[in-house]
Amino acid sequence: MITKELICVNCPMGCRLKVEMEGKEILSITGNTCPRGAEYAAQECVRPMRILTSTVKIDHGTHRVLPVITDKAIPLDLMFKAMDEVRTVRVTAPVAEGQVLVHDLIGSGADLIASRSMEKN
Ligand code: SF4
Repeated sequence: MITKELICVNCPMGCRLKVEMEGKEILSITGNTCPRGAEYAAQECVRPMRILTSTVKIDHGTHRVLPVITDKAIPLDLMFKAMDEVRTVRVTAPVAEGQVLVHDLIGSGADLIASRSMEKN
Protein backbone atom coordinates (compact mmCIF):
# COMPACT_ATOMS: atom_id res chain seq x y z
CA MET A 1 0.00 0.00 0.00
CA ILE A 2 1.20 3.54 -0.76
CA THR A 3 0.07 6.85 0.69
CA LYS A 4 -0.02 9.99 -1.42
CA GLU A 5 -0.31 13.44 0.06
CA LEU A 6 -1.90 16.27 -1.92
CA ILE A 7 -3.14 19.77 -1.32
CA CYS A 8 -6.60 20.42 -2.71
CA VAL A 9 -6.50 23.38 -5.10
CA ASN A 10 -10.25 23.79 -5.49
CA CYS A 11 -10.58 26.60 -2.96
CA PRO A 12 -8.38 28.82 -0.77
CA MET A 13 -8.70 26.50 2.24
CA GLY A 14 -6.08 24.22 0.68
CA CYS A 15 -7.03 21.08 2.62
CA ARG A 16 -4.23 18.53 3.02
CA LEU A 17 -5.46 15.29 1.49
CA LYS A 18 -4.16 11.81 2.14
CA VAL A 19 -4.88 9.03 -0.35
CA GLU A 20 -4.16 5.39 0.43
CA MET A 21 -3.79 3.22 -2.66
CA GLU A 22 -3.14 -0.39 -3.52
CA GLY A 23 -1.83 -0.38 -7.06
CA LYS A 24 -4.28 1.81 -8.97
CA GLU A 25 -7.12 1.18 -6.52
CA ILE A 26 -7.99 3.93 -4.05
CA LEU A 27 -8.62 2.53 -0.57
CA SER A 28 -9.33 5.76 1.28
CA ILE A 29 -9.22 9.53 1.00
CA THR A 30 -8.99 11.66 4.12
CA GLY A 31 -8.37 15.28 5.00
CA ASN A 32 -10.98 16.77 2.70
CA THR A 33 -13.50 19.19 4.18
CA CYS A 34 -15.98 18.75 1.33
CA PRO A 35 -16.71 16.22 -1.45
CA ARG A 36 -14.86 18.28 -4.05
CA GLY A 37 -11.62 17.45 -2.29
CA ALA A 38 -12.25 13.72 -2.57
CA GLU A 39 -13.13 14.07 -6.26
CA TYR A 40 -9.98 16.08 -6.87
CA ALA A 41 -7.78 13.55 -5.03
CA ALA A 42 -9.29 10.60 -6.90
CA GLN A 43 -8.84 12.31 -10.28
CA GLU A 44 -5.33 13.43 -9.42
CA CYS A 45 -4.25 9.93 -8.40
CA VAL A 46 -5.92 8.04 -11.25
CA ARG A 47 -5.61 10.42 -14.23
CA PRO A 48 -4.55 14.00 -13.47
CA MET A 49 -6.11 16.73 -15.61
CA ARG A 50 -4.78 20.17 -16.46
CA ILE A 51 -5.86 23.24 -18.38
CA LEU A 52 -3.46 23.87 -21.29
CA THR A 53 -2.28 27.45 -21.82
CA SER A 54 0.03 28.47 -24.61
CA THR A 55 0.32 30.78 -27.61
CA VAL A 56 -0.18 30.27 -31.34
CA LYS A 57 1.16 32.20 -34.33
CA ILE A 58 -1.14 34.86 -35.69
CA ASP A 59 -0.91 36.56 -39.08
CA HIS A 60 -1.71 40.28 -39.48
CA GLY A 61 -2.30 40.73 -35.73
CA THR A 62 -1.10 43.55 -33.49
CA HIS A 63 1.26 40.99 -31.90
CA ARG A 64 3.11 38.01 -33.38
CA VAL A 65 1.47 35.43 -31.11
CA LEU A 66 -1.99 34.97 -29.62
CA PRO A 67 -2.55 33.56 -26.09
CA VAL A 68 -4.74 30.44 -26.11
CA ILE A 69 -6.27 28.14 -23.52
CA THR A 70 -8.34 24.97 -23.49
CA ASP A 71 -11.95 25.48 -22.45
CA LYS A 72 -11.65 22.55 -20.03
CA ALA A 73 -8.94 20.45 -18.45
CA ILE A 74 -7.35 17.66 -20.51
CA PRO A 75 -5.50 14.58 -19.23
CA LEU A 76 -1.98 15.48 -18.17
CA ASP A 77 -0.60 12.47 -20.06
CA LEU A 78 -1.91 14.00 -23.33
CA MET A 79 -0.23 17.36 -22.73
CA PHE A 80 2.86 16.77 -24.93
CA LYS A 81 0.71 15.51 -27.82
CA ALA A 82 -1.62 18.49 -27.38
CA MET A 83 1.30 20.92 -27.37
CA ASP A 84 2.64 19.34 -30.58
CA GLU A 85 -0.74 20.07 -32.16
CA VAL A 86 -0.89 23.62 -30.75
CA ARG A 87 2.51 24.40 -32.30
CA THR A 88 1.05 23.76 -35.76
CA VAL A 89 -1.86 26.17 -35.30
CA ARG A 90 -1.72 29.46 -37.19
CA VAL A 91 -4.60 31.91 -37.22
CA THR A 92 -5.36 35.20 -38.93
CA ALA A 93 -6.45 38.40 -37.18
CA PRO A 94 -8.94 39.62 -36.20
CA VAL A 95 -9.72 37.07 -33.49
CA ALA A 96 -12.34 37.44 -30.76
CA GLU A 97 -11.76 36.42 -27.13
CA GLY A 98 -13.25 32.96 -26.61
CA GLN A 99 -13.23 32.14 -30.32
CA VAL A 100 -12.77 28.42 -30.95
CA LEU A 101 -9.53 27.91 -32.86
CA VAL A 102 -9.37 24.10 -32.70
CA HIS A 103 -12.41 21.99 -31.95
CA ASP A 104 -11.84 18.81 -29.90
CA LEU A 105 -8.06 19.24 -29.61
CA ILE A 106 -6.42 15.82 -30.28
CA GLY A 107 -9.74 14.15 -29.44
CA SER A 108 -9.58 15.33 -25.82
CA GLY A 109 -13.08 16.80 -25.89
CA ALA A 110 -11.66 20.24 -25.12
CA ASP A 111 -11.65 23.14 -27.55
CA LEU A 112 -8.64 25.41 -27.93
CA ILE A 113 -9.90 28.98 -27.64
CA ALA A 114 -8.39 32.46 -27.86
CA SER A 115 -7.84 33.84 -24.37
CA ARG A 116 -7.89 37.43 -25.66
CA SER A 117 -9.09 39.25 -28.71
CA MET A 118 -6.65 40.64 -31.27
CA GLU A 119 -7.34 43.22 -33.91
CA LYS A 120 -5.94 43.27 -37.40
CA ASN A 121 -2.73 45.31 -37.63
S1 SF4 B 1 -11.59 19.83 0.17
FE1 SF4 B 1 -13.23 21.33 -0.16
S2 SF4 B 1 -12.87 22.86 1.42
FE2 SF4 B 1 -10.96 21.70 1.24
S3 SF4 B 1 -9.70 22.85 -0.25
FE3 SF4 B 1 -10.85 21.30 -1.39
S4 SF4 B 1 -12.68 22.36 -2.09
FE4 SF4 B 1 -11.81 23.57 -0.43
